[in-house]
Amino acid sequence: MTIQLENPKARTGLETLSPSRAGDFKTCPRLFKFRAIDRLPEPTSVYQARGTTAHLALQRLFDNPISERTVDKLFDLFRDAWTEIRGDDEYTDLFEDVEAERSWGIESMELLANYFTIEDPTTFDPEDRELDMLEDLEGITIRGILDRIDRDSDDRLIITDYKTGRAPPERYALPAFFALKIYALLIRNRLGETPKEVRLLYLNGPTLYRLPIDDRQLDAMDGQLRALWRAIERALQSDRFPARTSRLCDWCSFKDICPAWAEV
Ligand code: SF4
Repeated sequence: MTIQLENPKARTGLETLSPSRAGDFKTCPRLFKFRAIDRLPEPTSVYQARGTTAHLALQRLFDNPISERTVDKLFDLFRDAWTEIRGDDEYTDLFEDVEAERSWGIESMELLANYFTIEDPTTFDPEDRELDMLEDLEGITIRGILDRIDRDSDDRLIITDYKTGRAPPERYALPAFFALKIYALLIRNRLGETPKEVRLLYLNGPTLYRLPIDDRQLDAMDGQLRALWRAIERALQSDRFPARTSRLCDWCSFKDICPAWAEV
């Protein structure tokens, strides 16, 4: 008699891992379970709506000729993008009234204007934007969307991620590079070229954090990712996803149902 072992990945539908979900598992395995396995809905916040709309506007800014990449054009693109998506179900009840929506729009534009204090979009054309990365690392399929990739004057690749949330103090910035280092690894695998640098561009600061990249770091990330994947497989097999409390719990959508906070 052959005993058929159930594949937990097939049962849970976990076929791919995004850099964000990998980061979730590292931060708190229970958070990973809520999001990636149980796929519990999370209420959309005004901050997420701002992030989505600002990303669309920044992405489209580079569709325009260099001479038209101005602050006013970016504001127009933001308004157009919001008009386009505000009817989606997830945004329907986001604002109490028109005044609240208007204030949100003004605050968003103020943040967007900060973009021009960090870089000048009239001095370069990106190599690629909104790049859909789907790469197989011998058993782990990683999927995610990369905001932007450029070539610098030395013809080296630079990876940039836009952030609309508040920039962390420099001493806490390193963990925020985790997902970008995964993208750098995927780019190396796909193009056979090691990116020179990854950048986190925080509109709310405004701040630009830069991290130089080399093959040694990417080899280490490759090992870390494989170890993380093995840990996820073990967690799936045993159905053990411990809750790991931290200051991030205050922003977690699942705090009300999290076992770590059940008796607090
Ligand atoms: S509340 Fe904290 S411990 Fe619980 S799932 Fe969220 S991040 Fe993890």
